[in-house]
Amino acid sequence: MSCLDESQLYYTLNLGDIMVQKKEFSNIHKQIVLSSQKHKCKNCEKKFNVANLPEFGYIDGNVSNNTKSNLQALCMECLENGKNQ
Ligand SMILES: [Zn+2]
Repeated sequence: MSCLDESQLYYTLNLGDIMVQKKEFSNIHKQIVLSSQKHKCKNCEKKFNVANLPEFGYIDGNVSNNTKSNLQALCMECLENGKNQ
């Protein structure tokens, strides 16, 4: 019973000037992806903030491949555009 349940942990996302508290899975990976993208959308480079929250997508489409190299942060707009392609 020593396993830490990640879903029970709260974390703080540092989105530039704004701190947003969220409760989600795979928080560490998301934070790494965000900082590697300098808190900007990977596609349009729009900066993330409370009005433009990042959405995480899988680069290879494989949802079980949850490694940071397979995650990308996109704004809602680009995520929606990607779905329509
Ligand atoms: Zn975008």
